[in-house]
Amino acid sequence: MARALVAVVGSGPAGFYTAATLLRSEELDVHVDMIEKLPTPWGLVRSGVAPDHPKIKTVSVAFARTADHERFRFCGNVEVGRDVTRAELLERYDAVVYSIGAQSDNHLGIPGDDLPGSIASTAFVGWYNGHPEFRDLAPDLNVERAVVIGAGNVALDVARMLITDMAELDTTDTADHALDVLRASKVKEVVIVARRGPLQGAFTTPELSELPDLEGVDIVLNPADFEGIDPADITAGGHTVRTNMEALHRLLNDHPPTGKPRRMVFRFAHSPIALHAGPDGRVASIELGSNDLVADDSGYVRAVDNGARETLECGLVVRAVGYRALPLPDVPFDEKRAVIPNEDGRVIGGDREYVAGWIKRGPSGVIGTNRKDGQQSAEAALADLVKAGVDRSEADIAAVGEFLRERSSQLVTEADWRVIDGVEVGAGKPTGRPRVKLCTVEELLAAARG
Ligand code: FAD
Repeated sequence: MARALVAVVGSGPAGFYTAATLLRSEELDVHVDMIEKLPTPWGLVRSGVAPDHPKIKTVSVAFARTADHERFRFCGNVEVGRDVTRAELLERYDAVVYSIGAQSDNHLGIPGDDLPGSIASTAFVGWYNGHPEFRDLAPDLNVERAVVIGAGNVALDVARMLITDMAELDTTDTADHALDVLRASKVKEVVIVARRGPLQGAFTTPELSELPDLEGVDIVLNPADFEGIDPADITAGGHTVRTNMEALHRLLNDHPPTGKPRRMVFRFAHSPIALHAGPDGRVASIELGSNDLVADDSGYVRAVDNGARETLECGLVVRAVGYRALPLPDVPFDEKRAVIPNEDGRVIGGDREYVAGWIKRGPSGVIGTNRKDGQQSAEAALADLVKAGVDRSEADIAAVGEFLRERSSQLVTEADWRVIDGVEVGAGKPTGRPRVKLCTVEELLAAARG
C-alpha cells in the first residue's frame, strides 16, 4: 500500500481522534507525527479536566492505544511557530492537521480587569493541573470570598477546586504546588456570577447534580431566580435545559443551606461592572450590576442592565467567560471567531492543511465532541491524499523524524513520555493518587532522561 506522512499539531483529544482515523485507513498506510509543544500529551485531558473528576481522564487509555501504533510518532517539546515553521512542515509532510485547541481566554473588558487578584480561568485551571506555563501563578487564597464569573462547567470546576474539602483533593492528581496553597486557603465562600438566568446556564447536568456531595459546603441559590420561569420555556430548551432545571430545583428544595463551614453561592442575572483595588493595590471588591432578562424577536434571552448596583468584598476574581484560540504564525486565522477558517476541516486558503477540535469550531463541546470532528477532518485529508496519489519511502519518513530531532535538542518521543508517565504514576502509588505530576519542563525532561 502507498504511504503518506501526516503531521498532527497538538496532542489533545482532537489530535488523537484525528490520528486514530488516519491510522485506520484501508487505502493508505498513513504515518502520523504528532507534534506537541509540551513534553506531555493529551492537551486539556491532562491540564484542563478537573482533578476531582478522575474517571473523565481515563479517556487517555484510548489515546495511549493510538500512540502505540507502529506508524505513530509522538514528537513532544516541539512548538510549531517557535521550533518549526508552517513552511517547513509543508515542505516535509503530505498534509498538516492543526489541532492546537484554544490557548487563551476572553477578558471581562471592565475597569480593574487586570488588577492583581483578577485571574483568567486558563491560568488558574492550568495552575492546579500542573501545566508548566502556569506553575508560578501563585494565586493569593488568603481571602475569605472568591468570585467566579461565568455560567459554564469551567466556572463550576474552578468554584469546586476553591472550596472542596482537602481530604478529597489529597487523593487526586492536583499539582503539589496547588495542594500546598489550597491547604492554607482561607476561602469560605465562592460566588458564581452568571449574566443570565438558570435557564440559560451552560452547565451540564452531572456537574450540577454532584454539588450536594461537596463535604462541608452549602449550595446557596436564590428562590427568586426561579420564580416566574415558564414551564413551556423549560420544555422548549431541550433535554439539557430540562435536566439542569431539575438538578437546580433539587438543590433548592432538597439541599437548603444548613450553616456548613463553606458556601457556594449562585448569583444569576448579574454582571461584573468593575473590580476595585484595596490599599495594597490588589482586588478588594467587585461591583455587580443587576440584569433584566429580555427575549428578543428570535427568542434569544439577553441580559439588560437595569441600573441596580451592589458591591461585594472579595480578594480573588476568576473569569471563566470562555477560552479563545491564538493564531499560528502564517496560518490563516479568523480573528472574529478565533478559529482557523475551514470547510469541513479543510483550511480555507490553506495548502494540504486541515484543522480539528477547538481551533476548528471554537471552544465548546466535551471531549467526545472532538471524535466526530476529528474523524471528519481526517476523512477529508485521506480523500485528498488518495486523490493526489502520494507515496513516500520509509527512508523519507525516517529523515523527517531526524529533522524534528534536530529542531528540538530535547525531543520527547513516545518512549520518553512512557518513562515520564511511569515516574508520575509510580510517585502517586504510596498515597493512592493517580499520579504526582511533574510541573516544569525541566523536571519532565529530566524524568524522560532517567
Ligand atoms: P486541547 O485539549 O486544548 O489540545 C490542544 C493541544 O495542542 C495541547 O496539548 C497544546 O499544548 C497543543 N498546542 C497548542 N499550540 C501548539 C503549537 N503551536 N505547537 C504544538 N502544540 C501546540 N470535556 C469533558 O468531556 N469533560 C470534562 O470534564 C471537561 N472539563 C474541561 C475543563 C476545562 C477547564 C476545559 C477548558 C475543558 C474541559 N472539557 C471537558 C472540554 C475538553 O477538554 C475539550 O473539548 C478538548 O480538550 C478540546 O480538544 P482539542 O484537542 O481541540 O484541544
